[in-house]
Amino acid sequence: MSWSRTLLWFVFWSALAAGVQYRWDTAAGWVVLALVCGIILTIRRRQANRVAVWAAHPETDPPADVGQWEDMVASLYRHTLGQTIAVRTLQATNDAVMSAAQALPIGAVTLNKDFQIRWFNVAAEKILHLQPVQDIGQNLLNLLRSPPFVAYAKQTTWEEPLILKIALGGSNQSITMRLVPYANDQLLLIARDLTQIEKLETTRRDFVANVSHEMRTPLTVLSGFLETMREAPKGALTEEQSQHYLKLMHEQALRMEALVADLLTLSALETSLSADKNTIHMSTLIDSARQQAESLSGGRHTLIWDIEPDLNILGNQTELSSAITNLLTNAVRYTPERQTITIQWHRQADGSARYSVTDTGIGIASEHLPRLSERFYTVDRGRSRAMGGTGLGLAITKHVAMRHDAQLEIQSKLGLGSTFSLVFAPDRVIAAH
Ligand code: ADP
Repeated sequence: MSWSRTLLWFVFWSALAAGVQYRWDTAAGWVVLALVCGIILTIRRRQANRVAVWAAHPETDPPADVGQWEDMVASLYRHTLGQTIAVRTLQATNDAVMSAAQALPIGAVTLNKDFQIRWFNVAAEKILHLQPVQDIGQNLLNLLRSPPFVAYAKQTTWEEPLILKIALGGSNQSITMRLVPYANDQLLLIARDLTQIEKLETTRRDFVANVSHEMRTPLTVLSGFLETMREAPKGALTEEQSQHYLKLMHEQALRMEALVADLLTLSALETSLSADKNTIHMSTLIDSARQQAESLSGGRHTLIWDIEPDLNILGNQTELSSAITNLLTNAVRYTPERQTITIQWHRQADGSARYSVTDTGIGIASEHLPRLSERFYTVDRGRSRAMGGTGLGLAITKHVAMRHDAQLEIQSKLGLGSTFSLVFAPDRVIAAH
């Protein structure tokens, strides 16, 4: 204990002074005592100053050699350290919660009871087109200016969400909103963008309508011919006519078969995200596609093959075969007789590999290019049907490309011809050298 040490010193010096006084009858002892007291006071003053300076920042290392202050400084320092750790833990928890709230894929906005914005996350910024910083403190009702939202906000409870159609950022949005009261008169607004979901729903509906339509046409033709044949009086149809009807019916049955096969391929492609990574010998695959193309062409086209033999791909054989055959048979279908189709398979300088089919056929007008790989999209439905197309070939090819980290590139000029390419990322390419 430093105060007892000080007391001991004081007693010692007082006794010494009293001894001197008594022995020599002089005041020298008291002068020494006064001097010693002065020195002790000065030292104490300095120690107190050091403690005062440190106390302004008690989280820093405490000063050494502070005499009687030592105990107090030590316990204050321990307390401050404990507080600092508690504050840091709290801060870390707070930061983690805030980053989680920021990262939420749904929009979250906190509001006071007057609908003034206190905070919002990144998703809310995007969905509701809010401006960070600038919109804090603004009234959300004024910002959105939507009478249905105002009516919803003015309710006293919010059991159901509101589906709001609103023009934001120059486009029409469909947003689901829900207000949730929390703490003292605070409100949490949860917002989700439905635009994408609605688009998907429309695509799904269109798809079902398209499939039904595509199936109904051959079915109608088939049942029409069947009825004619069944109801025709005996001997009314010549053998030649019967054969002709049977041939047409067979064509329609084949068409339905092709459609169903393509639909099954598409659905199989959609069941998993990425394709296998088996080593596929592309030159062998291209060779078997070559046989199909040559038989479809029947010698009516000039086919030029420029294939790098030992350039392989990590992927799925059936899918790749379907993609490269689709591009090839399309070229044959949409290229008039006696014209040329060039097939190339090469490694490129950046390590990627390109399979391209270039024809000098009918070509495609630029306005159709962005939609070409949509399901059932055809430039000329009649021509596509006449050629035995289903309108699903490029959709399948695009899907296969995506599953193999490849790009489907299309270049075309109306009346001049087209180049359809599959460009495989270097990770998927295996070259012999
Ligand atoms: P389809 O079964 O009708 O050929 P695809 O999805 O394979 O369906 O192709 C979609 C459309 O793209 C075709 O209907 C056709 O209009 C156009 N197309 C595809 N390949 C070519 C090509 N090589 N030349 C011209 N048009 C093409």
